[in-house]
Amino acid sequence: MENAIRPFDQPLEPRAEWDTPMFHLAQEQFLQAAEFMGLDENLRDRLMYPQRTMIVSFPCRRDDYSEVETVFGYRVQHILTMGPTKGGIRYHHDVNLGEVSALAMWMTWKCALMHLPFGGAKGGVRIDPSKLSRAELQRLTRRYTLEIFNMIGPDKDIPAPDMGTNAQVMAWLMDTYSAQVGHAVNEVVTGKPVVLGGALGREEATGRGLIYLVKEAADHLGIDLQHATGVVQGFGNVGRHAANLLAEHGTRILAVSDVSTGLYNPQGLNLASVHEHVEATGYLKGYSGAEEVSNAELLELKCDVLIPAALQNQITGDNAERIRCRILAEGANGPTSLEADSILDERGVFVIPDVLGNAGGVTVSYFEWVQNTQEFAWSLDETNARLHRMLTDAFRRTLLRSQRDGINMRTAALIEGIQRVAEAKLQRGVFP
Ligand code: NAD
Repeated sequence: MENAIRPFDQPLEPRAEWDTPMFHLAQEQFLQAAEFMGLDENLRDRLMYPQRTMIVSFPCRRDDYSEVETVFGYRVQHILTMGPTKGGIRYHHDVNLGEVSALAMWMTWKCALMHLPFGGAKGGVRIDPSKLSRAELQRLTRRYTLEIFNMIGPDKDIPAPDMGTNAQVMAWLMDTYSAQVGHAVNEVVTGKPVVLGGALGREEATGRGLIYLVKEAADHLGIDLQHATGVVQGFGNVGRHAANLLAEHGTRILAVSDVSTGLYNPQGLNLASVHEHVEATGYLKGYSGAEEVSNAELLELKCDVLIPAALQNQITGDNAERIRCRILAEGANGPTSLEADSILDERGVFVIPDVLGNAGGVTVSYFEWVQNTQEFAWSLDETNARLHRMLTDAFRRTLLRSQRDGINMRTAALIEGIQRVAEAKLQRGVFP
């Protein structure tokens, strides 16, 4: 077997720390955009890597007291130029530094595209939360919070939920942070329960925002959503709300999936009863009102709107030729590979790229932070109206750039974000 250990006399590759497929994808997307916009080389190199990174290992004690597992956690701040950094915390058994760094970089472009006063960040713990009891999840969250305590803060870096975390996890994070500083600091996280200062509408904001954008795209393409069909991969925070809100436009939801299985009904799923089943059992598996399909088959179903809202790297060179949607609305981060992007372009699929598609989440997180810092809560209608205004504005700017410069929507959205960050970097200058 080949020796995996690098001999001492061989230098490390410059990007060795981040050498993962997902970070490569984020960097390659960035480089494509940077080349198209003729970004200065010095600036390009400053934006290519995260500015601050923390890797921690800490003990996670099981309920029966006999086992203490060592787990790894990360917090990455990509760019500190724009204001505090902002980004979710992911609990997943595959999380690694490259993945968290890629997600942090995308957060930078997303916040800048949306004109939010934040740089991008992300955090993660490499653990499968579905295998933890509630008490274990709470202990893990509190210990992880303490490990990254010096990095976060309402004026420094503000976490939020991502895959595998939710409002309850944010409440424990806020409580642990507050206990350390001696008073309640609810503005240290967003996506927390409403009773602790969470914004009305934050929970469904990512899915809601995505469907606002689907409506814009459908109008642009002349698709009537009332007579359209939709398919959603992932039935968690983003997927569930996106499916419901798309169905509210009259769109027939043909299929949904989660980690357990996919459900398909060509007549359209009864979403209310699917929700009931998930409430009762936790998963889609075992639901009787539809055929089972695999996640791979689901992605290839013919439909008007396909929404990947689970994991990264789902639409690749292997299946892009067989994707049969008209609008690909990316709820998940990084669901489409570079190779797939060019195949989809050739085939005329209209892509709402992740940095735009799921930006509703961070936008309402921004609203939550603003409300917390001002101690003043907005109504749900006000939140949704502002979200709609900001997302449709970003959509129109992106579409205009895409049409004017003859580039795809992803590159156009990235340039919208990168240009703003590059300008800010130039204005602030180099220290010393
Ligand atoms: P979640 O944990 O609430 O739900 C994830 C869903 O994906 C679950 O239904 C799970 O069963 C399913 N899933 C997991 N592995 C799968 C697999 N192999 N095949 C099919 N389905 C699988 O997570 P979420 O918050 O909905 O996040 C989903 C995606 O959206 C992630 O990429 C996340 O980064 C992105 N996102 C989330 C938010 C947010 O506000 N929650 C904001 C922006 C982007």
